Amino acid sequence: MKKIIYLQRIGDVDPRILIVLQKNMKRFFREYNIKIKILSDKLPLLEFEFYKEQYDASKVKKRLIKHVNNRNYYRILGVMDADISSKLLKKNKKNFIFGTADMDKNKFGRALISVTRLREDFYERSENLAQFELRVLKEAIHELGHTFGLEHCDNLCVMRCSNTIDDTDKKPPNYCDACLKKLNDFLDDFD
Ligand SMILES: [Zn+2]
Ligand SMILES: [Zn+2]
Repeated sequence: MKKIIYLQRIGDVDPRILIVLQKNMKRFFREYNIKIKILSDKLPLLEFEFYKEQYDASKVKKRLIKHVNNRNYYRILGVMDADISSKLLKKNKKNFIFGTADMDKNKFGRALISVTRLREDFYERSENLAQFELRVLKEAIHELGHTFGLEHCDNLCVMRCSNTIDDTDKKPPNYCDACLKKLNDFLDDFD
């Protein structure tokens, strides 16, 4: 099977964000022979997914599989620019997430990120494009890491859990040695 990660626009999101992400991800995944492609269409956001000013991430993510059912896909990463939450996390008083992903070990996998809280102006600070693009890359690699069987990691590693934007800024845009080993094992298993 060809290893392709498809990037899917969901709702109103600037297509340039996906173009930059594709470029950065290509550089990152090249050594694993994984290609990155942008799907040309756009998925709409649906009203039933909207609840208290946020979209339910699991509902949006669920639609990604329906959409690509007839394609021979490997991984799909939805990119949206609206706030998302997870009902599971609300119990822990956390009212938003940066992204979500399929956690089960599978040949296929879906992930979703929202770029809304990755912008400095969300925090009423002046915009920094390079920083924003790096944050988008980190969250994308993190969520895709889950689809490759990686769990949260306490090392200096992109798989560190981000509860705040500072957490995202503190972690590097790559997997630690332990996670890289797991990633390589995964890729060998599902070759
Ligand atoms: Zn995570
Ligand atoms: Zn790690």
